[in-house]
Amino acid sequence: MKHVIALDVGGTGMKAALLAQDGSVLLEARRPTGREHGTDAVVAAILDFAADLADEGRTRLGSAPLAAGVAVPGTIDEKNGIAVFSANLGWRDLPMRKLLGERLGGLPVALGHDVRSGGLAEGRIGAGRGVDRFLFVALGTGIAGAIGIGGRIEAGAHGYGGEIGHVVVRPGGPACGCGARGCLETLASASAVSRAWAGASGDPEADAAACAAAVEAGDPRAAEVWRTAVEALADGIVMAQSLLDPSTVIVGGGLAEAGDTLFAPLRAAVSERLTFQMPPKVVPAELRDTAASLGAGLLAWDLLSTEVTA
Ligand SMILES: [Zn+2]
Repeated sequence: MKHVIALDVGGTGMKAALLAQDGSVLLEARRPTGREHGTDAVVAAILDFAADLADEGRTRLGSAPLAAGVAVPGTIDEKNGIAVFSANLGWRDLPMRKLLGERLGGLPVALGHDVRSGGLAEGRIGAGRGVDRFLFVALGTGIAGAIGIGGRIEAGAHGYGGEIGHVVVRPGGPACGCGARGCLETLASASAVSRAWAGASGDPEADAAACAAAVEAGDPRAAEVWRTAVEALADGIVMAQSLLDPSTVIVGGGLAEAGDTLFAPLRAAVSERLTFQMPPKVVPAELRDTAASLGAGLLAWDLLSTEVTA
């Protein structure tokens, strides 16, 4: 059966799949990234994993993969297939597309950004199916986003499009890793909620999931922590709504696991802030931690369709 390799390289683990053209998963696999062994070992692990997946395809699906897509974190140059920088994985100007292409015997390779790949998959085969314009927001350690337009992701002129986590929602607020203050991710990421709840509850181990559980149990301190995050998030979403006017906002990442505990107050906070803007649908992401891998596979299929039509 015709398929492509789909690979998502994360800080700790790699998720992979062999993907059919309709986005269905024919085979899934996971491996550790092994960053504790250094950058060269991480790159070797990525290349080995891809080569093993190609072998699996030949053995189990009866044909070689037609292309490969790989999603990586950090800054990337999609056009030239270069993983420019990842603080987590330690590389700089890594020619990922070339290395993978060579290892896979000249197979076409697409390189994608992890969050934008995840957004692409949510838009095409996840929570945004059939939606022309959407905003994908991932609430994890930080907050990242992707702008979906007409079945593609708008990466911006320099690859930083969609960085809603660094929209300043509280001027002069908490210091952000980017150097600014009051960025959305300092207030509404899963890490920010974990930190705030650890402080408020006095339990240094308390995390965002514990905070959500305490909100559900009626703890007023947790409700206050939660409200701070929800209001910041609503401010960020409304700013994005004014600029981009998406029909749907897809919210994923660790904090979205709270379900209605997040979505009910978030929808209310967004709608009470809107003036002239049309209200977006605010929906949970569907693909969870496989989104980036699936998106990498879709990029690989896109590569093939542009090659055919070019
Ligand atoms: Zn920032």
